[in-house]
Amino acid sequence: MNTVNILFVPGDGIGPEVMAEVKKIITHFNAQGALNANIDEDHIGGIATDTYGTPLADSTLAKCRAADFVMLGAVGGPQWTNVDYHLRPEAGLLRLRKELDLFANLRPAQAFDELLGASTLQPDVVRGLDIMIVRELTGGIYFGEPRLIEDIGNGERRGIDTQVYTSSEIKRISHVAFELAAQRRKKVCSVDKANVMKSGMLWREEITALHKAQYGTTELSHMYVDNCAMQLLRNPKQFDVIVTDNLFGDILSDEASMLTGSLGMIPSASLGPVNPKTGKRPAVYEPVHGSAPDIAGKNKANPLASILSFAMALRYSLSRDDLALETENAVKAVLAAGYRTPDIMAAGCRLVTTSQMGDAVTAALQGRLEKAA
Ligand code: NAD
Repeated sequence: MNTVNILFVPGDGIGPEVMAEVKKIITHFNAQGALNANIDEDHIGGIATDTYGTPLADSTLAKCRAADFVMLGAVGGPQWTNVDYHLRPEAGLLRLRKELDLFANLRPAQAFDELLGASTLQPDVVRGLDIMIVRELTGGIYFGEPRLIEDIGNGERRGIDTQVYTSSEIKRISHVAFELAAQRRKKVCSVDKANVMKSGMLWREEITALHKAQYGTTELSHMYVDNCAMQLLRNPKQFDVIVTDNLFGDILSDEASMLTGSLGMIPSASLGPVNPKTGKRPAVYEPVHGSAPDIAGKNKANPLASILSFAMALRYSLSRDDLALETENAVKAVLAAGYRTPDIMAAGCRLVTTSQMGDAVTAALQGRLEKAA
């Protein structure tokens, strides 16, 4: 069996706590002979600034490039609020995304039956929900030039950001969406603002042409972003894969993920371009939540988002859908058995710590999970 090299960069706050639970899952698969994974570890974020004087050292970046994939915890915390702009923990994350060209951000929004009560929507609206939001992550208005604040005289200032997309940027994110849809329910909804934005018109033209040329067996629909924001609350189950630009994806993926309850449950994947020589693509898997300084060091964080992020790595970096499904089913089993960290606690369930939750998922994988309550 091929050796898999995984780089862990746990980062700050609850990052190390939740990542420790992912290691238990890897240890289990290694012991079972299902995986042959090596784990190396390094720093990113505030702890890297404290250790190396920069939130992402060149040596760490080199390890990220060499690894089959990176498992990231979270970055940030109040102790780094006043450091120079380039030393901020978030600067390490942005540099990692840029250097590895992680242009495709995948965020699933999946409803777990056991947590339907945690959604702000009625259970019937979200029961069975399974959406994948594909957000373009390295282009658009967050990177377009010019971007500046300028003095225009008479006490007036002007702030400028530039929304810009090229055909190839649109096509490569569209490929990712169509390929994901092919393994799901074969529906892609492309979200833009083509009625008022030139970049949106180009977006719609390019994805339509690509669909016609290569992905005719998948259904493609288009939706304006304002309507999509509304439809996600009205009837979210109409969607399978949603593909959209950086700005709209930022907003819609947060909206969609909150349909399903706690931040502590939501995984993500960020993928780069496939290397034609090796067939591999750079990839970083991380929970959507931040470093949660309010609960850091207290063994209270929910590690399930990180464990589900590892399941995404099994699926998208290692093509081990079997192990991904086993991991996801173990998480469902633990919820069904009544184990809850404080963020998802409900009446009649048993409150557990971060490490007890990781132990419960491991026990489920080993077929020895006991009912919690
Ligand atoms: P946050 O996601 O860290 O926390 C928001 C709330 O959710 C907090 O009450 C926290 O306790 C809770 N929470 C988050 N994850 C949880 C988990 N796994 N289990 C239980 N509860 C959980 O967001 P924030 O408070 O806005 O930001 C804190 C720090 O994290 C900031 O420095 C911010 O810049 C950083 N941040 C980092 C990332 C990242 O690393 N990708 C993302 C968002 C925020």
